[in-house]
Amino acid sequence: MTRDEALALDAADPLARFHDAFALPDGVIYLDGNSLGPPPRAVHDRLTEVSRRQWGEGLVRSWNTADWIGAPTRVGDKIAQRIGADPGEVTVADSTTVNLFKLAAGACSLRPGRTTILSEAGNFPTDLYAVQGLGALLEDRVRLKTVAPDELLDAIDEDTAAVILTQVHYKTSRRWDLAAVTAAAHAKGALMLWDLCHSVGAIAVDLNGAQADLAVGCSYKYLNGGPGAPAFLFVAKRHQGAIRSPLTGWMGHAEPFAFEDGYRACADIRGQITGTPPILGLAALEAGLDLQLQAVPTLVEAKGLALAELFIAEAQARAADPSLVLTGPREAAARGLHVSFAHPQGYALVQAMMARGIIGDFRSPDIARFGFSPLFLSYAQVWDAAETLADVLATRAWDRPEFHQRAAVT
Ligand SMILES: *Cc1c(COP(=O)(O)O)cnc(C)c1O
Repeated sequence: MTRDEALALDAADPLARFHDAFALPDGVIYLDGNSLGPPPRAVHDRLTEVSRRQWGEGLVRSWNTADWIGAPTRVGDKIAQRIGADPGEVTVADSTTVNLFKLAAGACSLRPGRTTILSEAGNFPTDLYAVQGLGALLEDRVRLKTVAPDELLDAIDEDTAAVILTQVHYKTSRRWDLAAVTAAAHAKGALMLWDLCHSVGAIAVDLNGAQADLAVGCSYKYLNGGPGAPAFLFVAKRHQGAIRSPLTGWMGHAEPFAFEDGYRACADIRGQITGTPPILGLAALEAGLDLQLQAVPTLVEAKGLALAELFIAEAQARAADPSLVLTGPREAAARGLHVSFAHPQGYALVQAMMARGIIGDFRSPDIARFGFSPLFLSYAQVWDAAETLADVLATRAWDRPEFHQRAAVT
């Protein structure tokens, strides 16, 4: 593809109007919206409004007058629209890690006697750690079992309480078939818990179409909710009332303001809320979400895949370096919106790109990862990024001492 052809794609892009809704610095091509989405312009006014008016003037009254108390489920209902869930099936609470712990424990309580939670080896570490911690708490009555991805479906059996998978793998970008895997879990009587961190706001997701049971996800990646924005969780209607949260806090009580000594779980999705919701985080998230909801999910997915495809094709055509190896599947339908290249100098490569204004990230041991968030990126930017990658490789621009200095966060 020529750069003019990339510009022609931009001219015909139905999502191009979203570029200006983000305030990205000049000279930056941001290929890390899959790790931390950039701030939508609207977020700054929203946060000022909430902190000055609602917090500053309304004070404690804003729990009612600004409906702070309803924010977790109000924002949850907006996320529901992006993941194929119904109103009342999603709430915002805690972090992805905590939500995964809560729902994994809940799944065990719905499948008493079953002793295995199944996941794939190499899943995002926090997902595995959360289940390991749950197993320790339950004194190994329930244990995490991990298998290679190609063995996963065969490993589901009558002892499996739940299967926990990240739909789009954080490194390889490989995508699980949501409906097929959910059906395979159900065929053995197991529950299906999806981690949608790299799906939500990126690819079209239909949880209820797949009859999924449970899901979690974070909102600071493709939803542009801000650093450390609160996460979400989904519990299908048919499980609400029966599923229990192991973290029984007052906000999950049927009547939080009755201040009773004894815990009585709220029977709807609010039974999964623990403590006081983070209102400033929710306000920022809602601004990102309001923007996201204006975009058609199938167009978002199609553009993201096209950008990723452009990057792969141009990088492979231009980069003469044989040690640059695409990880994960090549076909668009089998991937998410980020692209990972293994390279022996992956860390230095990402640093050298960053020095030229192209921001990606590094995942140990050797992955240079680039995300193609569709709302703020243009085809021409992705074309430029691929050209820069090829140049950095051809000139060995990565080979400078400062690019090998590892920072705390990679
Ligand atoms: C980003 C990500 C998380 C993040 O979990 P936090 O609790 O927000 O730190 C969890 N799982 C997956 C698959 C992720 O990609």
